[in-house]
This record gives sequence, structure tokens and C-alpha cells, in this order.
Amino acid sequence: MRYALVNPKWSFEGSTYFGCAEPHFPLELLSAREVLRGAGQEVLLIDAWMEDLTPEQVRKRLEGFHEDFLVIPTAPSYLFWRCPQPELRIPQQWIAALNRSSRKVVIGPHGSVTPLATLRKTGADIVLRGEPDQTLPQLASIPREMIAGCVWRDDAGRVSATPGLGATDMRAIGMLDYSDYPVEKHAHLHHIFAGNGADHLHRGAEVEFARGCPYSCTFCNKTLFRNKYRERELSAVVAEIDQLIARGVEYIYFIDEIFGVGKQVRALLEEIAKRPVSIGFQTRIDLWDEKSIELLARAHCVSFECGVESITDEGRDAMNKNCRITTDRITELLVYARQRIPWVQANLIKVREDDPAQVADWQANLKAQGVWVSEPVPMFPFPGSPEYVTTFGEQPDENAWERAHDFYLQLFADKGFSDIQDQQPLTLRELEQADEELACVSC
Ligand code: SF4
Repeated sequence: MRYALVNPKWSFEGSTYFGCAEPHFPLELLSAREVLRGAGQEVLLIDAWMEDLTPEQVRKRLEGFHEDFLVIPTAPSYLFWRCPQPELRIPQQWIAALNRSSRKVVIGPHGSVTPLATLRKTGADIVLRGEPDQTLPQLASIPREMIAGCVWRDDAGRVSATPGLGATDMRAIGMLDYSDYPVEKHAHLHHIFAGNGADHLHRGAEVEFARGCPYSCTFCNKTLFRNKYRERELSAVVAEIDQLIARGVEYIYFIDEIFGVGKQVRALLEEIAKRPVSIGFQTRIDLWDEKSIELLARAHCVSFECGVESITDEGRDAMNKNCRITTDRITELLVYARQRIPWVQANLIKVREDDPAQVADWQANLKAQGVWVSEPVPMFPFPGSPEYVTTFGEQPDENAWERAHDFYLQLFADKGFSDIQDQQPLTLRELEQADEELACVSC
């Protein structure tokens, strides 16, 4: 069968979205393409964001391909599945504008938690919940009733659903093939800031070494996808890096939820140390010590971002951070890292356990030693996070995104958004179009 995988051109105007608004590699589509090709399916991947294409231009490329399935993600790149924009405006608009007669398949964090609302809002025929890499090919080979996390609308408009979630065997994801992907258009260097030791780098890329995380922080939107920690084969990742270096890539950002936790990460860093490429990633500082920070420096790490979240044991415990070192040791390691890595960042979350004056002192101390510390940001109760259940006292239902978004806007009702973002976000209803209600016949 024929699959068209389309990354739309994203826009976050009016959104509460905090993530980076630059184009990144659509790793979820590139990864799915490898599995689909391995299963003998024909695939056309179009990255409208990287190539700056309109829906009309994409439609022209689709003409003649006659796809059976049109696949569209609901968040820009796997990198942002844990902190996606709450609204479905872009997939909604692109599915309508492409106006294909093929089956429309939606993948991503929204449908993983609210499949019926996602079907209704986007007008798609199928939602695949969880990770879609290995469930997408199953659409061509087995009945939908046998595919984990499949929610679909039949020709009569009835909706059915299977239990479970897609969860990918990461050992099965071989080297991603960039031979016909416009790597050269990726000028963005993710989480690199001008004047901070990486100005010599010009072409960036993203790579996924491992998926998931063994921790369970309350605010983390990973429980329905990318949950259990899994590494890819080291040889596949190294071959992918070599392929990207051959295409002129000088900087790789690892999109992993938590880089540094796995058995093979030291071996990966030793391989990177031998190559002319710099790296950046997100991690936890308690996974590192002086020796492994030295290895990071040898592996040309130029961007080291650590989720510290709170400056107290009590604050970290309240978020179930399961951090095994003290704040003093956190401070010591961050400063040690900064003496070897040009950009070291500590992220904080606003929690009642932390005294704002003490937070300001901690920030000032670290900033004086070159470590950048974020302002404590409020938590968005993402529907795939434990925080959602704590906040609302129930599991997410089909209105979960609306409820979380309303709650978040209400936090700022009195004091405005100017501390954390430039624009006044719109409500979810304003961002999305209203659509007809759907009822599931299986539940
Ligand atoms: S360490 Fe916590 S916040 Fe980071 S990926 Fe794991 S669960 Fe999420």
C-alpha cells in the first residue's frame, strides 16, 4: 500500500506553546518510513515545514502518488510530544486544505489521550494512540481490531477503538535514511544561543538515541507514549550520525527525553568524541559526575540542559523527581560542567515549596559562575501527565485538553502573561474550529 507522510508547516500564533518554533527533523515520520519500507510499503515523505511548502504545493506533490493513507502528526517532531501546543489548529487546517480521498491517519500526543476529540476536530479517519512507528504498517496488513491503540471511523461514520497503545521496539529502528531528505535546509541549531561558544557551528540535525524515561516526574507528559526507556542499536545511531556528518552536519541535538541514563550512552559518547561533530541534549544533573562530565567535554558537548525543577529536596520530592543528590551537589556539578561546556542550563518549575528569595539567590550564584538558570515556570497540567490527575481528580476524558488549557489560562487571569510570554494566548475554542460530536461504538 501507499503511505504519504506529511509534516505540515507549523504556526503557534495565539498558543501557550513554549517549545522552539524552528523546523526540526520530523523524526516520527522518518522513523515510521523505515519501518513501512521494511514492511514492503511505498512511502512518500513531504516535510512542508523544512521546505516551506503550502498545502497547494504539497497537494501537487501528492498528485500521481495515489496514497492509500495520508499520515499527519499533531505536534511538530518527536522532540515536542512531551510539551506540545494544546491546539489542533494546524493538522485540522492541513487535512482540510489537502482534501485527499485517502484515509487520513493522525498520530501524536493529542490523539493518544483524547482520540475521539482528535478525530472530530481534525476530520481524520484513524487515530493511532501511542507510538506509531510499528502500528502504521499494520494498517496495511492486519484488521484494525488487532492493532493496539487504533481508533477509527468506518464508512457509516461509526467509531471503533481497540485497547492499548503503540510502543515501539527501538532495536528495530535501523539507521534513518536521509538520502532524499533536504538535510541542507536545516540551518537551525537547537538550544544553541549566539555568543555562547558554538558560533562556529552552522548546520544542525536531530537524532534519537533512546526513547522514554525510567523516572515518573509528576509534570511529565510521557505516560501514553515514549514512556518505558528503550535504546536503539548503537551501530545504527553511529551510522546515522556519520551519514549526517557526510551531509555537512556539525551539530546534533539528541531529542531523547533523558540523555545519559542508558547502558550504551558512554560508548556512544566515545564514538562521538572521535568525530567532527558537536552535541547538545536535555538531561538530569544527577546522572552525571566529574568523570562523565569530562567525557561529555571530549564528545564536544556544547549545550547541556538540566531539569533541576526545584532548589529544595521538598520541592523535588513534591514533583516525584526521585533526585538522588542534594542541592549543594547539584550546584557543584553544574558549575563543574560549565567550566568544560560552553552552555549549561538549569531549568526550574514554580513550586510552593521554594521560597522566591532563595530561588533568586541560587539563580544569582549560578549565573555569576556562568550557568544559565531559567525563571521558575508554572506547570501546564498536560493530559498525559500524573499532574493532570492530581489537579482535576480524575483521569483525562475527551475534554482534557480544554480543561487543562482553561486551568492554565486562569492561572494568569489577574496578573497577565507578560512574565512568561510575549502574547496573550487565545482560548482553545478560539484556536480550533467547532465540529460535530462523535460517539464511539466500542466504548
Ligand atoms: S526525568 Fe522526569 S521530566 Fe525528565 S523525562 Fe523523565 S519523567 Fe520526564
